[in-house]
Amino acid sequence: MSEAKPVRVRFAPSPTGYLHVGGARTAIYNYLFAKAVGGTFYLRIEDTDRKRYNEQALNDLLRDLKWLGLDWDEGPFFQSERLEIYGKAAEQLVESGHAYYCFCTEERLQTLEHGYDRHCRDLNRRPAADEKFVIRFKSPADGITKFHDLIRGEIETPNKDLDDLVLLKRDKFPTYHLASVVDDHEMRTSHVLRGDEWISSTPKHVLLYNAFGWEAPLFCHLPVILAPGGGKLSKRKGAASVGDFRDLGYLPHALVNFLSLLGWSPGDDREVMSLDEMIKAFSLERIHPKAVAFDEKKLEWMNGMHIRLLPDSFFADELKKIYADENKCATVATLLKPRLKFMTELPAMSKYFFERPEKCEDEKAYAKYWTQQSPEHIKLIANELEKIEEFNIKNIETAFMKVCEENEIKLGALAQPARLAVCGVGAGPGLWEILECLGKDECIFRLRRVN
Ligand code: GLU
Repeated sequence: MSEAKPVRVRFAPSPTGYLHVGGARTAIYNYLFAKAVGGTFYLRIEDTDRKRYNEQALNDLLRDLKWLGLDWDEGPFFQSERLEIYGKAAEQLVESGHAYYCFCTEERLQTLEHGYDRHCRDLNRRPAADEKFVIRFKSPADGITKFHDLIRGEIETPNKDLDDLVLLKRDKFPTYHLASVVDDHEMRTSHVLRGDEWISSTPKHVLLYNAFGWEAPLFCHLPVILAPGGGKLSKRKGAASVGDFRDLGYLPHALVNFLSLLGWSPGDDREVMSLDEMIKAFSLERIHPKAVAFDEKKLEWMNGMHIRLLPDSFFADELKKIYADENKCATVATLLKPRLKFMTELPAMSKYFFERPEKCEDEKAYAKYWTQQSPEHIKLIANELEKIEEFNIKNIETAFMKVCEENEIKLGALAQPARLAVCGVGAGPGLWEILECLGKDECIFRLRRVN
């Protein structure tokens, strides 16, 4: 095995459904590995299963990969455009005695109970014109097939467990196995990093590489991602597609960071990392084979951490897309950034800074904090705020303290109703900061509306 082979890895999705988090993790590991060692990351679309092909899925897939920031260096290469190559490769194996034409009808195959019975294996005949056939691989009847998995070590499979698998289908499309091996060879893939559900396919691929007389790439099967409560990860169990996480307001970098840690660690206690940091720290040796659980709470936390890492101007720009009052955007951005968990929260959390709330929108907070005395208390604080000349945090705070002291009101009994009157909601950044940002006239107006 030549160590000096340039690193070329691929993400090879089948466009049959949404890009799920497992697929995204595979793409991320291939991407990080390529970038870490100065290799090439290419995209290959495995679209040879025409029954399951879905054009929308393909478009979504490309969009989601771009959104995640996983730019590919080459491709996408479409297998459906390479049919001739697979056809020739299959014929080549027939010529060399490693494969054979099989003429068995669907009806016949359906009567077989234990896989294909190798009925056509020794027929040694070519198809007549217009005769329907598939090409099957002549799996060795005995012996074992071994391969070395970079994180799992030696894996051995008795050949008797392997079927005479179909390489070329009746419609002249290749099966996944043939197309995958031919492409990984032709596209000079150095390492195959893929989910561990493909482990049982690998011995078949190894036999195919041998039959072709090609050197196989190195294999690395990534650990299973389990649902939060155990069991297989599925949409039904709360796990979602990359698109769903985007719609929920997750940042792409947070999702990439979180998924990168499902099966890998940087070797120290760092968790929150930028893409560059992940690239620098990434190595195949630090991928472990143990199944990992998808912990959505941790993803939420991770998202908050990544939000904190963004510059305030990022949020100011987002706000400018929604509101006309550009001057206020920078202040509001600074106030809201530490409280944001999801980008999607921004419009609702910022609304009262720019628009007067019609009424108290937060009924729970209203029930909790509003009392019979609240209108009276609010009148007192409105009067006191009106006297302020320089309407800043310090003077606002002093005004609140003064009203509390002079009227023996607890600060909470004054501030919470005042917040509800001004903001319409019971939670948010510090009240003095909000009031300062709104400005004296607006604050007084909102407080005076209460009676
Ligand atoms: N097309 C396969 C998939 O959808 C690729 C498996 C592989 O990486 O070989 O996951």
